[in-house]
Amino acid sequence: MNEYSLQSIYQENGIDPDVLRFGEAACGELKGRFLEIDETAEYNQLKVLKAFHDARVSEACLSGTTGYGYNDIGRETLEEVYAGTFHTEAALVRPLIGCGTHALAIALFGNLRPGDEMISIAGKPYDTLEEVIGIRPSAGSLMEYGIRYRQVDLKPDGSFDFEGIRNAISPATKLVTIQRSKGYETRRTLSVKQIGEAVRAVKAVRPDIVCMVDNCYGEFVERTEPSDEGADMIVGSLIKNPGGGLAPCGGYICGTKECVERSAVRMTCPGLGSEIGPSLTLNPSFYQGFFLAPVVTASALKAAIFAASLYEKLGFPVIPDGHEDRHDIIQAVTLGTPEGVRAFCRGIQSASPVDAHVTPEPWDMPGYDDPVIMAAGAFVSGSSIELSADGPLRPPYNVYFQGGLTWPSAKYGVLMSVQHLKNAGLIGSL
Ligand SMILES: *Cc1c(COP(=O)(O)O)cnc(C)c1O
Repeated sequence: MNEYSLQSIYQENGIDPDVLRFGEAACGELKGRFLEIDETAEYNQLKVLKAFHDARVSEACLSGTTGYGYNDIGRETLEEVYAGTFHTEAALVRPLIGCGTHALAIALFGNLRPGDEMISIAGKPYDTLEEVIGIRPSAGSLMEYGIRYRQVDLKPDGSFDFEGIRNAISPATKLVTIQRSKGYETRRTLSVKQIGEAVRAVKAVRPDIVCMVDNCYGEFVERTEPSDEGADMIVGSLIKNPGGGLAPCGGYICGTKECVERSAVRMTCPGLGSEIGPSLTLNPSFYQGFFLAPVVTASALKAAIFAASLYEKLGFPVIPDGHEDRHDIIQAVTLGTPEGVRAFCRGIQSASPVDAHVTPEPWDMPGYDDPVIMAAGAFVSGSSIELSADGPLRPPYNVYFQGGLTWPSAKYGVLMSVQHLKNAGLIGSL
């Protein structure tokens, strides 16, 4: 073995030859799927570039404003780029939006009025939205403002319950929300095509019902987005896919002019709307991150499929499995024991570019009943487009794995998780 072989550099980085061989065999089988992912990235890269060109992104767009941020050409052009890419009339892309939940809350509060009713047609929404909506009573929730909530669960096979949806719609129904990604549920993630069918079913009952999609973790996984399929608003976080790992904060709302303007006056205030909000020094990372996002998302997707494939071979249940189509970048692995979850997270942490020397420990996170362990050695705190994993320490001991800014680093992370399980004696011979 020559000293510059891949095996020797992996060994120097803590990966045993048998773990590497096991990984390489799986990689070989995934070649066809990786090619498809690269082609989707190519398609999406050109889509983003076209939007850059159509919006005439220029050097001046990369400088920022302070104070009120009036006439911020960088901010305004960036919003044109997002709208151009997602084929919407308008976009709000702001560092002021603190996270995905905040973006979703702005979109909901902006577009709902007292007496209106909203329906979640993909079952229970993401945990943090329960307090926004008031499913869990909370100060300032939509419920406190007299906005009612209904829910239509997905069918046991994970598809939309079209009859249930039609029956739930009432004259008060103003907005329907659809969460694309499974989040931390075990249901399947919805495809853009499925979402399109649901939007058309809702619009067939009443075309004026606003259809909003929580697009978190879904951007650039497919060639189209829910906005291409008739959704009035798509909403997400910039420290996930569309930030490309470079955006240090922020969120977006893309959609019809009316929906986005209503959101803007909620984000700032009536009368000011989208006109204020300095971009400070953030424009370069927002532009560059969005430019990189299709390829970064592809890396994360490859990592998710690689992990599914390895853990499936090791005999652990995985959702989705190693073969099915992907609609987001999250991979769930049922490790079955707390030691398994710890070992997996230690492996991911030890492969991270930052804080690799740190050992993740479970802690009592606000809002969770069980201790949660998290592995994240990220450049941007909490960024889940970067290599990361987390899991609540409770049966069946699932770990949720996502991200990876580059495929080689993500591959190393997944191999390292296997290595740590091996070191802990939790898997047999490879
Ligand atoms: C991440 C995520 C959110 C928002 O989470 P934040 O931590 O507030 O950014 C909402 N919905 C889904 C499905 C998500 O994955």
